[in-house]
Order: sequence, then C-alpha cells, then structure tokens
Amino acid sequence: MSESERPSELLRIEGLEVGFFDPARRGGPIARAVRGIDLSLGPNESLALVGESGSGKTAAAKAIMRLHDPRATRVSGRIFLEGRDIARLSEREMEGVRGKAVSMVFQDPMTSLNPVFRVGDQVAEAISASRGLPRREARAVALSLFGKAGIPSPDALFRRYPHEFSGGMLQRAMILIALAASPRLLIADEPTTALDVTVQAQVLDLIETERRELGAELGTALLLVTHDMGVVAERTERAAVMYAGRIVESGRTLELLARPLHPYAEGLLDALPRRGGRKERLRTIEGSPPSVFDATEACPFAPRCRYAQARCSSEAPALAPGLAGRQVACHRWAELELRGLA
Ligand code: SF4
Repeated sequence: MSESERPSELLRIEGLEVGFFDPARRGGPIARAVRGIDLSLGPNESLALVGESGSGKTAAAKAIMRLHDPRATRVSGRIFLEGRDIARLSEREMEGVRGKAVSMVFQDPMTSLNPVFRVGDQVAEAISASRGLPRREARAVALSLFGKAGIPSPDALFRRYPHEFSGGMLQRAMILIALAASPRLLIADEPTTALDVTVQAQVLDLIETERRELGAELGTALLLVTHDMGVVAERTERAAVMYAGRIVESGRTLELLARPLHPYAEGLLDALPRRGGRKERLRTIEGSPPSVFDATEACPFAPRCRYAQARCSSEAPALAPGLAGRQVACHRWAELELRGLA
C-alpha cells in the first residue's frame, strides 16, 4: 500500500506542543518536550513513534490521552479523533473518550493497577463498565480472556493480587483492560521494555492478535511508542522518528529502515547489531540531544551530525516531503541521497 492509498484518517494531530513548568515559579522556564508535531493514523494502521529517551514520544502519547497535569503542563495544538478535536473537550467530555475510543497500555503495569484489588476483578470491572454487563457475566468473560491471553492457571491467577503476578502476566492483564471497551485507537507506551525477550514477543503477539480481532470489526489502530528498532521493524507498518521533540523523518517502516533519509535515523540504525554480520564495533551517535530548554533556531541535530554545514546551525529544517511519500526534516537529505552518503 502506498502512502497515497492509505485509509482515511482515524487520528490526526496538528502542531502538538507539550511544555512542562514548575507551578511554583510562574513565568519560569518551560521545558519544551514536544515542539509542534503533525501525525496521522488510519483505521487498522500501526504506527511506531520511535526515538531515544527524552525525545518527546511519551509526552506526545500522553497528550493524546489528555493525561498531563494541567497545573504543570502547557499543551497546544489540535488532536482529531474520528474527526472530533479532543484537545478542545472538557475533562468531563474527555472521560467519555479516554479508555473507550482511545486506550493506553503503559510501560509499568504496576502503576496502572490498584494493588489492593484482585487482578481478575479489575479486568472484570473494566469489562462490566465498558460493555454494560452484569458483574457475574463480566467475570466469566474476563476469565475466558485470561485463558485466551495465555495466562497460565487462569482460575487461580484470577484471584491473585498485582504483586503476585510476574511483569509479563501483569502486562497481559493491562492489555485486556485497555481493549475491554473495543477502542478505535490503542496507544502502547514501551509496553515490553521491562520484560525479557521471550515474554516481550508474547505480549506483542497478544496486542497484535487482539487488535486484529477488533480491527476486523472496528479498524482499531495501534500507536506504538518505543525506542526498539527491532520492535518497530516487526510490528508496525509506518514509523515516525522523533528527536528533541520533533519528528525528523516518517514513512513506511520497511522503506525507512532500508534507507533512512535523515542522518539521525541513519545513526539509530547504524547503532543496531546486525545478525550474521562481521564482528565489528557498533557505531554510536556522539554527543547528546539538546536541552529541553534550548531556544536556538538551528537544526537540533546539528551538534551531533557529521553532515552539518553552516546553514544547519542557523536555520531549523521543516518536515517536508522526501522520497516516495516520506517526510524528512533535513536541509541536505536530497544532496546526501544523490551522493549515496546518508
Ligand atoms: Fe545534519 Fe544539517 Fe540535516 Fe540537521 S539539517 S540533520 S545538521 S545535515
């Protein structure tokens, strides 16, 4: 499927900015975590928001859910979900969207589950609330989902508390809760970072299976926040690479991974070990990202970019069309591409 053949939009983000401030210091500095990003996602699509820690991807994902504390965060921009700008909704109206039309799975399920209630009851409660089922019926559905999700001895574990679950089992329970209301959009924020590789694959399989089942009916889309390029390659159709609060490249995942146009995306891929390749030292991207307080008008990657020129230090490149439906924010991408450098 080419970019022009993409299905109509389910989610469209325009000019999203997220800044954090200290409420005790009015007029103090604002940490600009997200600096004007645009994104879109169609029904059934999967999009990876990828970048290193601090690139702004989690802040952007939480802004879609409207989870930031308004007393310490400034969020601007537009967030259209099924054509409705949810950034303009009141908190009360948003309660009808959050956990229903859009759900989120977090990195650490322990922070999302209530430690004093049994896990099975919490899953059943989510099913009862979202599907309007009586308690007994919701428990039966939850128990069957425990088995389907690969939770061993579902009858026994159903009655256990969060601290008695392994990380992988807890994450499965969280996925069941997130999908209980059959959302149109599932946001998964580093859902497998704390898990070992085998469990990681099982949890991602569960997300994919459940989403595809819902997708057949509803077109449930996935926004996967991750720093893991392997997960991006295996699990998503499109990818947007974030750096210093901006999207620096986006496009079809396989095309982007096969030939990154932005020097930062190239650096991320160069830092990956290659299976079966010659033994060689992994390349790293020298230096560190700019401060979230940085206010200079320059390409944010310039201090670390081996292709930087004078213009890069005085003018920030805008995200603009690159090759074959790709978007790239680099003054030199076309020239580097022609010379086969990037
Ligand atoms: Fe590198 Fe310049 Fe491109 Fe920025 S604009 S990524 S500094 S070449």
